[in-house]
Formats: sequence, C-alpha cells, structure tokens
Amino acid sequence: MTFVSSGQSEPPRAHFVLVPMMAPGHSIPMTDMARLLAEHGAQVSFITTPVNASRLAGFIADVDAAGLAVQLVQLRFPTAEFGLPDGCENLDLVQSRDLLLNFMEACAALREPLAAHLREQQHLPPSCIISDMMHWWTGDIARELGIPRLAFIGFCGFSSLARYIAFHHKVFEDVTDENELITIPGFPTPLELTKAKSPGGIVIPGLERIREKILEEDLRCEGEVLNSFQDLETLYIESFEQMTGKKVWTVGPMCLCNQDSNTMAARGNKASMDEAQCLQWLDSMKPGSVILVSFGSLTCTAPQQLIELGLGLEASKKPFIWVIKAGDKFPEVEGWLADGFEERVKDRGMIIRGWAPQVMILWHQAIGGFMTHCGWNSTIEGICAGVPMITWPHFGEQFLNEKLLVDVLKIGVEVGVKRVTHWGQEQKEVMVTRNAVEKAVYTVMDDGEAAEELRMRAKDYAIKAKMAFNEEGSSYNNVSLLIQEMRKRTNASA
Ligand code: UDP
Repeated sequence: MTFVSSGQSEPPRAHFVLVPMMAPGHSIPMTDMARLLAEHGAQVSFITTPVNASRLAGFIADVDAAGLAVQLVQLRFPTAEFGLPDGCENLDLVQSRDLLLNFMEACAALREPLAAHLREQQHLPPSCIISDMMHWWTGDIARELGIPRLAFIGFCGFSSLARYIAFHHKVFEDVTDENELITIPGFPTPLELTKAKSPGGIVIPGLERIREKILEEDLRCEGEVLNSFQDLETLYIESFEQMTGKKVWTVGPMCLCNQDSNTMAARGNKASMDEAQCLQWLDSMKPGSVILVSFGSLTCTAPQQLIELGLGLEASKKPFIWVIKAGDKFPEVEGWLADGFEERVKDRGMIIRGWAPQVMILWHQAIGGFMTHCGWNSTIEGICAGVPMITWPHFGEQFLNEKLLVDVLKIGVEVGVKRVTHWGQEQKEVMVTRNAVEKAVYTVMDDGEAAEELRMRAKDYAIKAKMAFNEEGSSYNNVSLLIQEMRKRTNASA
C-alpha cells in the first residue's frame, strides 16, 4: 500500500473514503467528486490500484498543486489469484466477457486490505464511505467501522429510478422475449422498456450472485449520491428519493469542477494526441460548426458500422472530430481510413485514435453538436457544453439516457438505434445507415427553426447546470450539507 499526495497540514474533520469501480465511466466522476469534496473543505481518501493510479497522474498533480486534501490510496489488485492477466486492473482492460466474474471477484478481494487500511486511520477516522454501487463489499467495511455508506450509481435520476423499479420490483423477471416492451410501474411519466435495453440487461453466467449482493447493499446503504442537478430532472430525482426512502444527494454536474484546459486535458487518462494541436485546429473553426463523435470507453462498434458512420459524416459536409477506440482492434477500419477517407476529409475532419481529452474538446466554442453513446458522463458533459446531441446508445442505461435527452429534455435527436450491442460483444451488422447519420447531423446542425430551438433549449440547460454547480446553487449547497452532516456524525461518535 502506498500513499501519494496530501495537501493541508490540518485536515478537516469530515473524511470521505471514495471507492470507485475501476472503469473510466465510473472512476472519472469519482475523481471529480474527490476534487469537489476537498474544495469544500473535506479530507478525501481515493482508493485505487497501481495501474489505475498511473492514469491518475494528471489528476493527482493537479490536486497537489491546488493544495487539496486528497490522498491516493493504492491497494494491490490480485490479478494472478483470480486468473486475470497481469495489469488487468480496469474494466476497459478485460478482454472478454468470460473474465468479468474474475474481475468482480478480484475487486471484492480488496475488502480486507481496505478495511485494514481504514482501521489504521486513528488520527483521522473515516466519516463516510462513498462507494460505487458495484462494490457491494464496502457495506461490510462501513458496518464494521460504524460509518455510513453512500452509494454512487453513476446514473442520472431518471435512469436510477427506472433501474430501481426494474430490479427491486422484478419487472423483467418472468419476461422471456427480451424485445417485448414492458411498462415500468410507478414511474412518474409513462415509460416502456424492453428487457434488452434495461440497465443490467446483460446476463452473464456466474454474475447473478454478485448482482444479488449489489441489490442487497442497495437497500442497506444510507443514501445515494447523484451526478445530476435538481433543475434538470426534479420529478425523477424526487420520485427516486420517495421510492427508495433514502436521502439522495444531487451534487452535479461534477465535471464542471474541471475549469482550466490542463485539468480538462488530463482528465481520465493521458490523451493519445497533442492537445495543443487539437485546440489550434478547433480555434481555426467557426463557433458551433463542428460535430464531436465519441462513444465512451467501453463500447465496441462493428467495423462495418464505423465505416458507415464515417461515410455519413463525409456526406454531411460538416466539420467533425471523430474519436475511434476500435481502430487498433479492427485493421479493416484502419485500412479504410487510410484508403482515401482521411485524405478526402482532411480539411474538415480530425480523427483521434485512442483516448481523447473529451471535455476539453466538447466545451470548445467550435463544437455545435455531440454524437454520443449516451453514457451518463458523456451525456451530462454534453448538457454542460450546451449543444444538442445525437443519441447512439449501445447498451444498458444508455437507452434510458437517450429517452431523457430526446423525450424529456428535448435536446437530443435519435440516430435510430433499434437493437442492443452488449458490452464485450461485437455488433455484427450495420444498424444505422450513412443516410441516417447525415440526416441526424443536419437535424442538429442546420440553420432551420427546429435546430435553432434544439440549440436554445440545450444552451438553457447549460446555464441551469452552471447555476446549480456555482456558489449557492442546489448542488453546491448539497455538497456543503453532505460534508456538514458527516462532520456532525463524526463528532457525535468521537
Ligand atoms: N472519455 C474521455 N476520452 C475518451 C473517452 C471517454 O475523456 O476518449 C471520458 C468521457 O468524457 C466520460 C467518460 O470517459 O467522462 C466515459 O463515461 P461515460 O459514462 O460517458 O461512458 P462509458 O465509457 O462509461 O460507457
């Protein structure tokens, strides 16, 4: 176990232990949460493993420079003991679905080392654990230490509520046709969902037992922390609170704590390209003229589908930045890019292979639209950017986020995905044609009245997001209240 980084000499009394799931979409918002809690005066221990810590170098340098009380606690990840390849410490490094169970069990084996570390913290005992919901085993640690465990689902209120009802009311239990539309009972607005498109729609043998544990701990946690804000989806947040009977702390959009371009560029991982060059390219484009295409960290889009997407972007004649993760896995995509495509679009298209500084790009004034897989982080980052979105969900809760964007907030346009591409499973067919891509790009980027309305609504939500996050906003106040509450409890039990 090693300790890196610590800021103030007199740490504040509330001490938060953050236990993120090791997957980019789960740990990135937790780094934002760490920064936010520390900026509001709390002490934070951020639990990680060596491979993940190396991705956090930029984050740690940043919080150090700012003098924030964030301590990175590295625990050895037991890859060998659980049949995982050396270094396989993040979900995006798990090469096959067959290894998912091993990965989850290796995570659960962190329970004793983490408990041992926390028992030693007598100088500043933990006040509270904020744990990714997937780490059900942190419940045992919280009970042993006599401190609250808050769950971080990583979803918005809309999707958290649908997930809660679907799981705890066993809505899909007896459903045999995974494409049958089922009404979600008790949802505050009409909602129909298929089993395939519901959160946790993936059934992986062996994982049922872990899912049961996660659900048990869902019911036992003291509250939920949501990366969302009241003005975005009050109805769903309040219903979620009522349905669970637990306090829901909305503290988002947490990504807004990344204010300068260095912080944005270093977020999540080291960028695979030169950030300065990228910014220079964006600076050379007209405001609102560029569409960003990025499908997060875990999706696996079929090579033929990627080619079709590229042809749609080309046909749209709009400038674009296209982040491609699969290039190295799919030589045919690489071959196709090199065989004329890159040359044809060189004046208006930038292709990023690998990790992109997404927030840095998305929040640049040149961006006018975002084609997204609707992971919640990307979605809320898009909301903060104030640009309309083209929705291309792949699996799980992404389909619910699509509904929120398109049907509720009305700042998104569906590209037309009909079926699910499960995590770790390659999609074989072309589901979205180049014409559909071209049409969706026009719908959000053209000069017509409908596009203008989309843009106005998107801008309006971005303003509301900032108001919630800034001093005296609802999320700002919730962070302060959360810290106060935990400090009070620590003092009462001291
Ligand atoms: N991200 C990034 N660069 C990339 C890909 C993703 O910075 O090249 C970030 C993105 O900004 C977001 C997170 O990784 O914060 C992905 O989370 P999301 O919930 O959107 O999707 P997931 O990867 O979990 O499917």
